[in-house]
Formats: sequence, structure tokens, C-alpha cells
Amino acid sequence: MNVLVINCGSSSLKYQVINSDTEEVLAKGLCERIGLDGRLVYQKAGCGKEITEADMPTHKQAIQMVLDALVNPKTGALKSLGEIDAVGHRLVHGGEKFACSAVLNDEVLQAVEECCDLAPLHNPANLIGVRACQELMPDVPMVGVFDTAFHQTMPEKAYLYGIDYDYYEKYKVRKYGFHGTSHSYVSKRAAELVGKPYEELKTIVCHLGNGASICAVKNGKSVDTSMGLTPLEGLIMGTRSGDIDPGAMEYLAKKENIDLEGVMAILNKKSGVQGLSHISSDFRDLEAAAAKDDKGGIRALETYIYRVAKYVGAYVAAMNGVDVICFTAGVGENGPDTRKGVCSYLGYLGVKLDDAANQVRGEEKVISAPDSKVTVLCLPTNEELAIARETVALTGK
Ligand code: ADP
Repeated sequence: MNVLVINCGSSSLKYQVINSDTEEVLAKGLCERIGLDGRLVYQKAGCGKEITEADMPTHKQAIQMVLDALVNPKTGALKSLGEIDAVGHRLVHGGEKFACSAVLNDEVLQAVEECCDLAPLHNPANLIGVRACQELMPDVPMVGVFDTAFHQTMPEKAYLYGIDYDYYEKYKVRKYGFHGTSHSYVSKRAAELVGKPYEELKTIVCHLGNGASICAVKNGKSVDTSMGLTPLEGLIMGTRSGDIDPGAMEYLAKKENIDLEGVMAILNKKSGVQGLSHISSDFRDLEAAAAKDDKGGIRALETYIYRVAKYVGAYVAAMNGVDVICFTAGVGENGPDTRKGVCSYLGYLGVKLDDAANQVRGEEKVISAPDSKVTVLCLPTNEELAIARETVALTGK
């Protein structure tokens, strides 16, 4: 069957059509600047990118343009919309309500709506995408796949913060974790690659993209992860600070004479390797700068790598060991220097990198030496494929 996978943000929307039998991507692309001037990128498998500048004042119009492109008689990947058998939506926050994916009926959508307080920037935009698709394809089944769901197996001791328990009971303030679709996909695939049962492995997945998080997967279940109530906690990211003393927020607010919103904008948008380096949030720029001995570039990379290595150590403790460490997402898949830097802290675990194998970019590969006590993998994530598989599992015949 063919699954349309939709990842809808507030002003952009990414899509793929995947044939779930062959797991081939038939077409993919994105709509950008929805509500502003509008731009559609469409790419049929084996063809170049087509870019159309056109007004798309609403998400519904953006999705209509995607559907039109998909069935365009000349360049479309499908003959008719009847060839779309189901739609899989990436949904960011499922709170404690969703420990797995769900068919999107009225009751489920109401429950997703109730999670909007927890992710005010993401869930409302996700829901707009779902409703637009429902209006345009009323008879096609839709599935929601949550970024938080995989982490619902975390034990209480991992997800509670050290604050008054009333805040958990009243407002559900706790660690939820994100990138769950990626952590689940990568840890499962890692088990296949090392040829061991998923239910018997201790795996640490380092998802290092613009957003970054790390996850301890024990016997096929997430037992801890670095992102928290929101995607701000944990690792240093492109522009997000990751862990910081909450006391620094009050201190900064007073010194800079700004309110809480101003502090949050700093921590979300002006921090991370961008803030540390004063150069860029992109690792390619940082590595180029560091190669020329730029202090900011070196500072950002060293601080970033050290934080990842500390979290790996924490998760080895949480699982009392580790069998496999995976690097995934933009930086993890394409950054040999970052992987080498992290592994240089892990000699005490018996981690030995194979320098030649580690030069790989964007491919599945064992990058540890044969005598390494822990297997280290470069393993590209594929969240769209994972969403398509979930969608088929819940709607397929
Ligand atoms: P997200 O999905 O969170 O937006 P990605 O997983 O696509 O992010 O990762 C994007 C980041 O990956 C870029 O900001 C860049 O730093 C990094 N990246 C991409 N290609 C390379 C490369 N060849 N070398 C080093 N880093 C890279």
C-alpha cells in the first residue's frame, strides 16, 4: 500500500509517499513559507527537484498543492489520489496519553488537543495538518505517530524531576523525551545489524541533528532520554542550550533586563553551538572554522562533544552496561570528527574506533574495531519510513 507521510510545522510541511511493500520513496518534498508567499518543492523518485513559487495562505492549500503535484499527469508519482491508502502524521507530544501510535479518530484528536499545553509550538501545527488532510481526503485512514510515545516506558525514577510531586500530579511536569520515532527505529535496526535479539540488548542512540537527544534502550525499551518536558533539556544543540542551571535564568533576566519570554528565546534560539561559537549552528561551518584554529569553533565543538560523552556515561550507569552505541541524524551520520571526539572519552568502556571505517557518511556501518568491547555504528535514521510502517501496522489489511 502507499502511505503519505506528513510532518507539519507552523509554517512548513514535509511529505513523502512511501510504497510500504517495497519501502521505496515514490515522491518527497516540502512546502515552505505557508501563510507568507509559499514555495513547493516536489521530487519524484529518480527525477530532479521541481520548485514552484505559489501563494499558499493556509495549510489546506499547501496540502492541496502537494496532492496536485502527486497526481500531475506529467510528473506525478501517482495516477490518482485513490492510490493513497493511508496518511501517517508525525505528532510531537502525546503526553502520558499515548504510549504508541493511534488511528486518528475524533476521540484521539481530542486527546492530542489536550496535549497542546505541553507543546504549544508543535501540537497545534500538527493538528492543523491532520485536519487539512481529513478535509481533502475524508475517506483515507490517518494515523498519528508521536515523538514522545517510545519513551513512555521510562521508569518513574527516570522521568520525575526533583520538584514537589504535586506539580507532577497537577500539571504532569515530568520528562517526556522526543525523537522517539528515531530512537526506536535506530535501536531496532542496530539489533538487526549486530545480529542479536532486540529484547536482549543495551543500546545507546545518539541522535545528533539540529535538535539532539540521546536515549538508553534496554531490552527494546527506552529507559532514559536526555530531552525533557520540552525539547530544550539535555545535549547542547544547534541553537538550544540543553541542560542549564535554572538559577541562570533568573540571573540572566535581571542582568539583561528581560522577561521570562526573553530568556526562553535566548535558550532556544541563541544558544547551543551557535551561541558558543558566534559562527553558526551548522557543524560544517564549525569544523571549517576549527580547522583554521578559530577559538569559537573549537570551543563549541569541544563543549558539545564533552556533553554527549557525559550522557553516554550516565546511560551506561543507568543500564549497568552497553552493547551498542549508535550515531544518527545530520551530525551523527555525517560527522566523523564528532563521533571520534565522543568515542575518545569512552576508552574505559573498551570502545575502540576503526578510524578508516569511521570516515563513512550517511551509510549504515560498523565503525568500531573488531576487538572493541562495544559495537559502535553509524546508522542513518529514517523517521518517515518508521511512520509509514506504523501507519501500515494500524491500518493495513
Ligand atoms: P534536524 O532534522 O534536527 O533539522 P538534521 O538531522 O537534518 O537536523 O541535522 C542537521 C545538521 O546536520 C546540520 O545543521 C549540520 O550541522 C549537520 N550536518 C549535515 N551534513 C553534515 C556534514 N556533511 N558534516 C557535518 N555535519 C553535517
